[in-house]
Amino acid sequence: MIVCKFGGSSLSDASKIKQVCSLMLENPERKIMVVSAPGIRQSVVPDRKVTDLLLSIVKESEAGRDGLEDRRLIAQRLQDIALGLSLSDAIASELSTDIDRLAMQLDPQDRSTRDALLAMGEVASARLITAYLQKEGHRARYVDPREAGLMLTYRAGVTEILPETYENLAPLSLTDEIIVFPGFFGVTPEGDTITFSRGGSDITGAILAAAVHARLYENWTDRDNVLAVNPELIEDAAPLTEISYREMRELAYIGFSIIHHEALEPVLKSGIPIHIRNTNKPSSPGTRIIAERTHIDRIVTGIAASDNFCSVNMRRILINQEIGILSRILTIFAELGINVHHVPTGIDSVSIIVREDQLPLEIELALRQRLSRELNLHQVTVVRQLSIVMLVGEGIRDTVGVMARATTAMAREKISVEMVVLDYFEISVVFLMRHYEKQRAVSALYREFFENESEHPANK
Ligand code: ASP
Repeated sequence: MIVCKFGGSSLSDASKIKQVCSLMLENPERKIMVVSAPGIRQSVVPDRKVTDLLLSIVKESEAGRDGLEDRRLIAQRLQDIALGLSLSDAIASELSTDIDRLAMQLDPQDRSTRDALLAMGEVASARLITAYLQKEGHRARYVDPREAGLMLTYRAGVTEILPETYENLAPLSLTDEIIVFPGFFGVTPEGDTITFSRGGSDITGAILAAAVHARLYENWTDRDNVLAVNPELIEDAAPLTEISYREMRELAYIGFSIIHHEALEPVLKSGIPIHIRNTNKPSSPGTRIIAERTHIDRIVTGIAASDNFCSVNMRRILINQEIGILSRILTIFAELGINVHHVPTGIDSVSIIVREDQLPLEIELALRQRLSRELNLHQVTVVRQLSIVMLVGEGIRDTVGVMARATTAMAREKISVEMVVLDYFEISVVFLMRHYEKQRAVSALYREFFENESEHPANK
């Protein structure tokens, strides 16, 4: 069985929905379709995603307004889709009535009222698509994640999947009709609607693929491939046809946004491949994300970069001889609620890399006080406005000289690197630098590992 997930841009209007339905019907192995809310239409400029309109209703409500204009826009959008699919008006009006009712019930103290409203974009897509498939004479069924038992909970600011979810959804593998499943939300043990973070339909697709032991998870989007570098940094970056889960995880962690970074976890255990494909160009090879790559054609698979990091640097003579010092430092960070990314250490120094938004000035002050009072760390410097530039590739592990080539390439451009982190598994190398060096560093590394790659002795 193949589980397909279609993103909002592939469902933005009736003609796109028809295209997506043909894709589903083309291959009898495609039995489950997970759908997002209608996204941006290319024909309407400027346009808004239905989820953004729903979020706007929430904001309006918090400001004491009724969000009438947003509701009107959604109602119009759903009606247009229904009309374009030659469905009766009734279904779109019913959905709009539900949205009106949920908007009235919004309560800022109760997150579930917000999530129930936000889920309506996906519910609407799924209901309209089911009705269309049925009208066309196909066997199709809407399955609501809340009834099917996609159990989620909210913990420490993140939506987590509860283990019983997989068992609850497993029977869907027996289906002989097309299942249309709205993405992005599930239900808590208390029976409340709960959403993932934005883009969360990718996670729903991955959960279903794992639950029904799918052969493949097809993630349909509006791009041909994952590219080796964000096109904003390198124009015409090389397309990637195959990458490993590990590579995707590393790249997604700082900036590669083609698939939600939490979507890998459910399929990871069972090793189900993910195939990223373009709805507008199904003939394009797309990008396969697989458990183990058998053929590594390049040392570096991708280069990711991200701004807004900072380092907290601590120095004290003989710090490395003190057993437990790292744990005490990290405990202070944890108690102040600061999420730590990297911890490079020296003989007499420890640096902690965090995102800048984790360290507003008042937290920095509290941190300095505690480090000084509790651990005698008086020499603490904080360097802000750092960027991370990261080389990712399964080939790094087995190649000698990657670090030398990378640093030489950057040195040629007079780029000063503040810190380097290479983990034991050697699948990524992280360079920290001042933010204004980022673009030049990415260009230098791209030239070194992609453009000049075939000339390098290691590849001959
Ligand atoms: N509709 C939601 C969003 O716009 C979820 C998704 O599309 O995956 O973020």
